[in-house]
Amino acid sequence: MFKEFKKFIMRGNVLDMAVGIIIGNAFKEIVDSLVNNIIMPAISCVVGKVDISGLSATFGEIHISYGQFLNAILNFLIIAFSLFMAIKVVNKINEINKSAMSKLSKKGEEKVAPTTKKCPYCLSEIDIHATRCPHCTSILEEAEAENTTKTNANE
Ligand SMILES: [Zn+2]
Repeated sequence: MFKEFKKFIMRGNVLDMAVGIIIGNAFKEIVDSLVNNIIMPAISCVVGKVDISGLSATFGEIHISYGQFLNAILNFLIIAFSLFMAIKVVNKINEINKSAMSKLSKKGEEKVAPTTKKCPYCLSEIDIHATRCPHCTSILEEAEAENTTKTNANE
């Protein structure tokens, strides 16, 4: 049985889950602090003192503290929003890394995006974005268009 338990503990997803829970707790503290020390004071600054967690209603004997419920919803929305933003940022960073990596690997493979082109008039190598050939001073904007438009322009 101990062996089985050891196997269970050592399974990758158990450790991942533990890490997730610990990080989640740490993250919750950040969000709590964000709500209690920054967002709530900022709201009170604009709207006046608000403490929705104290809101409650009493119907006869029944005491309904819906303020705490609203507080929990607000906390959830703030946590969800900060998670959303964090994931967005991480995705953006991953995207940048990926594109940088693919660029690097492409370079390694050999195929580099062309940085030069040939001038159609003097056939010398010039910068890909050049609109005028530095060698023969031809204007290259028309030359970049397809052959069909080129023949039309020549007429
Ligand atoms: Zn040229």
